[in-house]
Amino acid sequence: MTVTGRVAPESCPALVLNADFRPLSYFPLSLWSWQDALKAVFLDRVDVVAQYETKVRSPSFEMRLPSVISLKTYVNHARTPAFTRFNVFLRDRFTCQYCGSGERDALTFDHVIPRSRGGRTTWENIVAACSGCNLKKGGRLPQEAKMYPAIPPARPTMFELNERGRAFPPHYLHESWQDFLYWDAELEP
Ligand SMILES: [Zn+2]
Repeated sequence: MTVTGRVAPESCPALVLNADFRPLSYFPLSLWSWQDALKAVFLDRVDVVAQYETKVRSPSFEMRLPSVISLKTYVNHARTPAFTRFNVFLRDRFTCQYCGSGERDALTFDHVIPRSRGGRTTWENIVAACSGCNLKKGGRLPQEAKMYPAIPPARPTMFELNERGRAFPPHYLHESWQDFLYWDAELEP
C-alpha cells in the first residue's frame, strides 16, 4: 500500500465517535491509528465522518484516510473510572480543594487523612491540592489544620468524569500534560 499526500500517515489518527457522535472517551481522547481506523472501515464497524487529504493506495483501491469515524453500535460506558492522578484532578476540576487555586503547575495531590495517620490512597482520601496548601497542611488532620476539602472526596462515575471533561477543550488539556503515561498510571493503594 502506498501513501500520497503531504501529511505522514503516522500523524493521521482518527477521532473515534460513539454511535451518538460524541467522542468515545475524552480522557484519554479516543484516537485510533490510521491502520486501526482503516481496519474498522473494512470490517464495516464504523462510518467515516470526515477524511484527511492524505490517501492510501493499493493496486485494487484508493481512499483518503479517515480523520473522524463513528461506531455503528453504541458502546455503553458502565465501567468505573481508573484511579489515576489525571482522573483525580479531573474530578476536582484541576483546582486545589483547599484554596481553589487553579494553577496547574503547582497542582499536587494530598492525603486528606495523612498516610502517617493511617490515611489510605483511595478516591475517598485523595484530593487535588496546590503545593502551597499541601505544605501548609503537612501531616495534620483536616480538623487540626482547619483545612477541609471544598467537596468531600468520593469515587466518581464515568459519566461524571466525562461531564467534567466536557468543560475543558480536550486537545488542549491533553497536549498540555507532558508525561502522559505518568499521569495515566494507576495510583498505588
Ligand atoms: Zn491551595
